[in-house]
Amino acid sequence: MSLETYSKKRNFSKTTEPKAEAKSTGKNIYVIQEHNATHHHFDLRLEMGGVLKSWAIPKDPPTDSKTKRLAIQTEDHPIDYADFEGTIPEGLYGAGTVKIWDKGTFIPIKIEEKEIIVDINGKKLKGLFVLLKTSFKGAKNTWLFFKKKD
Ligand code: MN
Repeated sequence: MSLETYSKKRNFSKTTEPKAEAKSTGKNIYVIQEHNATHHHFDLRLEMGGVLKSWAIPKDPPTDSKTKRLAIQTEDHPIDYADFEGTIPEGLYGAGTVKIWDKGTFIPIKIEEKEIIVDINGKKLKGLFVLLKTSFKGAKNTWLFFKKKD
């Protein structure tokens, strides 16, 4: 059910993005995709409950504890999206190129409604990272993403 928004936004006869299918790998997949769309950004995704919970980060992902990034929660993506790279055609939702920027796994440390702490084991991001829900400019889907300590 939580992939309904993902499906509604896409036309699968035109995009090569994976179809909506919830499944669990049991591996706690972590991935960040660089998305060169209308606005260049990074998409952080974490496997939770059979889907990839997703956040768009408008700037480079934080690699030290001094950098706090705005992370805008977006629709849940299917697990298969973690392997997706390619070009989403002009005129479609998210049109532009998608490349994997970093990938690995994570250990969930704290998963709460307004605070998520994960121990990320990627190639570029490693260690404890925090997602903290904020009410930035009154928005309901804004979080801060930062490294807990160096
Ligand atoms: Mn994106």
